[in-house]
Amino acid sequence: MINQPRNRILPNKNNILGILGGGQLGKMIAMSATKAGYKTHLYCPKGDNPAETVVNSFTHGEWDDFDKLVEFSNNVVCATSEFENIPSKTLELLANKTSVIPNSKVFRSAQIRSKEKEIAEKSGFKTPKWYLIKNTDDLISASKLMENGGILKTNSLGYDGKGQVRINKHSNLFEIWENLGSVECVLEEILEFKREISIMYFKSRDNSEGFFPISQNHHENGILRKTIAPAILNIDAERDLRLKTKKLSENLGLYGILAVELFELLDGSIIFNEIAPRPHNSFHWTLNGCDNSQFDILIRTMCGLPVKDVKSNGKWEMTNLIGQYENIISETSKDQDYILYLYGKHETKPGRKMGHLNKQIS
Ligand code: ATP
Ligand code: MG
Repeated sequence: MINQPRNRILPNKNNILGILGGGQLGKMIAMSATKAGYKTHLYCPKGDNPAETVVNSFTHGEWDDFDKLVEFSNNVVCATSEFENIPSKTLELLANKTSVIPNSKVFRSAQIRSKEKEIAEKSGFKTPKWYLIKNTDDLISASKLMENGGILKTNSLGYDGKGQVRINKHSNLFEIWENLGSVECVLEEILEFKREISIMYFKSRDNSEGFFPISQNHHENGILRKTIAPAILNIDAERDLRLKTKKLSENLGLYGILAVELFELLDGSIIFNEIAPRPHNSFHWTLNGCDNSQFDILIRTMCGLPVKDVKSNGKWEMTNLIGQYENIISETSKDQDYILYLYGKHETKPGRKMGHLNKQIS
């Protein structure tokens, strides 16, 4: 028998991979796992869960249903979460029974904006000027220090631009504070950036590691519309960005994948925005643009298989289908170069990510 490294998980009928969260990311994780021959078990609350159609089995349960979670963890060799706001208690409970990748500390840091900014700063990143806001007095004094401008973001639970408001000297700070739910926030300086980019680092349980090429991202109203990749960055800037990202991952004790969202300013400096320890929308182009997509690499890191830098085959564009998408796919379906991913959500809502299109552009 070949002597396997202790952590290596190869596909066989006993090696079931656990996925927490039933959205499009969970679906695409499961599809990669299946392609590589692994069985999958999904855990998610009841709802419109596109991942349910592609897994071997699923359990409907709430994030605090500890009996169901223990049963789930007994059934899987390793688990990952597509859902960034998964309670860290849930992950800690699962970690007693199975390996959880990335670990709960990584998720906890990603869930709290002030925490992720502090750890990014400790890792050498520059962040926008920011203040922690616990009440309206804090908000009034911080907004004065920012010359009345800024973006007020809830310290936790924001996504796709939700839970954030731009303020200016005419804003009614009391009303804004109340509308955000009177919860802890951060007030951030508004940056004038040249472009937004993101980087993805990954580390397998066998300690091998790598990066994907960088993505360039275009957001509208706080929600990602389009990614073009690979983005060209000056060699020194890219080397420096990789070093800081690795340092940040080390500080988090990361295994798995980690996306870092960044702003590039007009003078070329790179400013940290936030992290996501899960597959990231700005790397959906890797489904066609790379031999191993971000989902494939996540599976390899979970299973302790060796990983290395991933290259792209040409230049790719990823366009999100947000809200009503029928007219767009009616047009793009005439052209074979548009590769369509429709997530299979039952309900179309404005601002909801329904699918995406990948297209090679050079
Ligand atoms: P995600 O869906 O990526 O989790 P989110 O809701 O957590 O998003 P952010 O990434 O903080 O929110 O912000 C969403 C977008 O709003 C950014 O990608 C950027 O376009 C804009 N934005 C956020 N912060 C700033 C800032 N300080 N200055 C300028 N623009 C900003
Ligand atoms: Mg973001």
